[in-house]
Amino acid sequence: MINEALKALQKYYGYKDFRKSQKSVIENILSGKDTLAIMPTGGGKSICYQIPALLFDGITIVVSPLISLMKDQVDSIKELGIGAGYINSSLTPKESFDIISRLQGQSIKILYVAPERLESTEFCQMMKNLDISQIAVDEAHCVSQWGHDFRTSYRYISKFIKALPKRPIVTAFTATATEEVREDIVKLIQLNNPGVFISGFDRENLKINCLKEGDRFGYLLNYVKENREQSGIIYASTRKEVDNIYEKLKKEGLSVSRYHAGLSDEERKNNQEDFVYDRINVIIATNAFGMGIDKSNVRYVIHFNMPRNIEAYYQEIGRAGRDGEISECILLFSAQDIITQKYLIETSIQSSERKINEYKKLQFMIDFVHYNGCLRKYILNYFGESIEYEECGNCSNCINEGQLVDKTIDAQKVISCIYRMKKDFGVNMIADVLRASKQQKILQHKFNELSTYGIMKDYSKDDLVGFINTLIAHAYIALKEGEFPTVILNSMSTRVLKGEEKVILKEIIKVKKISSNNELFEELRILRREIAAEEGVPPYYIFADTTLKEMSTRYPLTEEQLLDISGVGESKLEKFGSKFIEIIEKYVIDKNIEISWIFKKKTKLQIDGEKVKTHEISVNMLREGKSIKEIAKERECTVQTIINHIAKFLDEGKSLDTTIKFDELFDEEQEKLVLSVVEQVGAERLAPIKEKLPEGFTYDTIRAVILKNYVLA
Ligand code: ADP
Ligand code: ZN
Repeated sequence: MINEALKALQKYYGYKDFRKSQKSVIENILSGKDTLAIMPTGGGKSICYQIPALLFDGITIVVSPLISLMKDQVDSIKELGIGAGYINSSLTPKESFDIISRLQGQSIKILYVAPERLESTEFCQMMKNLDISQIAVDEAHCVSQWGHDFRTSYRYISKFIKALPKRPIVTAFTATATEEVREDIVKLIQLNNPGVFISGFDRENLKINCLKEGDRFGYLLNYVKENREQSGIIYASTRKEVDNIYEKLKKEGLSVSRYHAGLSDEERKNNQEDFVYDRINVIIATNAFGMGIDKSNVRYVIHFNMPRNIEAYYQEIGRAGRDGEISECILLFSAQDIITQKYLIETSIQSSERKINEYKKLQFMIDFVHYNGCLRKYILNYFGESIEYEECGNCSNCINEGQLVDKTIDAQKVISCIYRMKKDFGVNMIADVLRASKQQKILQHKFNELSTYGIMKDYSKDDLVGFINTLIAHAYIALKEGEFPTVILNSMSTRVLKGEEKVILKEIIKVKKISSNNELFEELRILRREIAAEEGVPPYYIFADTTLKEMSTRYPLTEEQLLDISGVGESKLEKFGSKFIEIIEKYVIDKNIEISWIFKKKTKLQIDGEKVKTHEISVNMLREGKSIKEIAKERECTVQTIINHIAKFLDEGKSLDTTIKFDELFDEEQEKLVLSVVEQVGAERLAPIKEKLPEGFTYDTIRAVILKNYVLA
C-alpha cells in the first residue's frame, strides 16, 4: 500500500519522497486505523490525509474550520489534478446539490465541509447515501476548550460519525501539542484506539533571531527596504501599533497592507487576499492574522513586539518558510513589551487561575528573550522535546554576527545621569539632558546644572534614545510600569557604575538580504504570477518558491527533466510545463549556459517485484496491442514517459517487433509540418521546434513524430 501511496505522491504532487513523519502517519491510516497526528505548522499535514483519500475506494470528508479559505484549499488540490469540492454556507442549494451528485459519481474524492454543516440533519441525511472511507478532522484542537480556537460545532463530529451506516476511518490533525488538547481530541472526536504520532517540532529552515535594538523602527524599515521584493509578515501587539507601522512604511513607498480586528470584515478580507495573491508583499498585523494562511512563500516574520507566550510565538513564526526555503524570524525586543503584555493579561483575563497561568507563560517568553544559549533549543525544550545538540548554528545566539564593542563608559554616563536626575523620567527626557537640550522643563528642574548635562552631545537624539533602550533591553537599567513608563536603576546599574560589570554590546547588525534570487528565478516568478492570475488562484498554488528555485539552478529543458524537479507533478506539468520550459530555454540560450543534466534519485517504486524493468512493462503492453495513450492511462503516467520508455528500449539495441498506432498522436499534415521544422533546427531540442510551429502543437506530438521518423527509422 505504501508503494501505491508513493506513486500517488510522485504523480500528483511531484515530490520525490515522504517526509519521515508523514510516512508513518500514512501507513497507519492505510492500514485502516484511526489516527491522531500532531505536526508543526508547515510539517505537511494535508498530504497525510489527501494521499489515503486518493487510494481509498470511497470519498474522504475533511472537516475544516476555515470557511474563508475553503475555496482556496480546494482550488489548490484541483491544480494537482485531484477531484475535490466543498460545501459550506457560501454555496447556494443548487451548488450544494451539484456537489452531491458529483460525489455520487465519484468525480469528487475529497470533500471539504465546515463543521457547522454537521449540525444540519439534511446534510447528514445526504451523507448517509455516500460511500465514505475517511473523515479527516483538520485543526482538530478546535474541539477542545483548552485550545485557542474552540469551535462548538466540532463537538458534533462524533455524533455525525455515529449516525453513518458504516463507520469510516477517522483521522485528526493539529499543530497544538499540549497534553490536555491531545486527550480532548481523542475523547471528544471519539477516535477508536488511534495511532498517535507526534513529530519533531523543529523547523530547520527558519533562522531565529532575537534582537535588542534600541531603534526598532529604524531596523524594521531598513530590513523591509532591503528585502522589498520578498513576502513578509510583521506582527505588532496592538492595533494602534499596527496602524502606526503601516502608515510609516506606506509613506516610504513600500508594498504594505494591514490586518487587525478594528478593520471592517470586508477590508480585512481584501487585505488578506492581497497578501496571499502576492499583490502586496508585506502585511502588518496583530495576532488576529494568520490562522489557516497556508501561503508557502512567506520569507520573513518580524515581531515588532515580544509576543505573549512561546506557543503564540512559535505558531506565528511557523508561517514563514512553509515551502522549506530559508526564511527569517526576527523578534525585536523592547522592555516596554513586558509592560504591554502584563497590561493585556490584566485587562483581558478575568479568572485568577488563568491569569496566573498566563503570567507563568509570559515569564518563559521573557526568559527566552534574555537567554544566552541556543534559542531553537530553548523553544524545543519548552515543547518537551529533548535536543542533543548544544548549538543549532541557525539562531542569533549560535551565529555570532556583529562585532562586540565595549560600551561601558557610555553606559556609565547614562546611569550616572539618571542617578543625578533623582526623580523618575522617561527615556526622552534623559536623552535631552545628556544632549544639553534647553527645553523649559529641563531648565525648570535645573538639570542644566548637573555634571552630566551635555556629556553625550556626540550622539544624535535618535541614536541616544536607541542606546538607552538597548541598555534597558539588556537589563542594565530598568523600566518602571505606569501610565508613562519611566527609567529606574537596578542592582546591575550600580555594578556598571562601580566598574564591576562591563557593558559589552553587539554592534548593530547590518540588515542583509535573506537570499539573493537569480535573474531566472525572477523571470519564472513573473510567469507564475501571470498564470496564477489567469487561473484565479494564489501564485504559490502554481509552484512553490522551492520549485522555481530548483528550476532556476538546474535548468530543466524537457518535460522529463521538469518532472524531476520537486513539486512538479503530472497535472501541473501538462498544464504549465511548456511555458516554464520556454522561459528556461530562452534564458539558457541567451546566457550561453552549459548544462549537463543528472536525474535525481527517486525513491524506487516496486513494480512486479522488480523483476521486469519499468520501460519493459510499457513495451510489453505495446506488444499486447495497446496504444501509447492507453498504456499511459493504465500506468498512470504521461504519454511522454511511455515514449521515453520505447526510446530507451530501442536504445538498448532491442527491436520492438510490433507497430505503433501513431495516428492517435498526429495526422499526416502535422507530421509533415514537424518534419519540415526539424530539418531547419534539428531534432536535439524540442523547444526550438515548438517555437517554429503554429499554436496547438504539443510536445507529445513533436516527440511522437521524432520517435517514428528518427528513432524507429
Ligand atoms: P501543514 O498543513 O502541516 O502546515 P502543509 O500540508 O501546508 O503543512 O505542507 C507544507 C508545505 O510542505 C507545502 O508547501 C507542501 O506542499 C510541502 N510538502 C508536504 N509534503 C512534502 C513532501 N513529502 N516533500 C516535499 N514537500 C512537501
Ligand atoms: Zn541556535
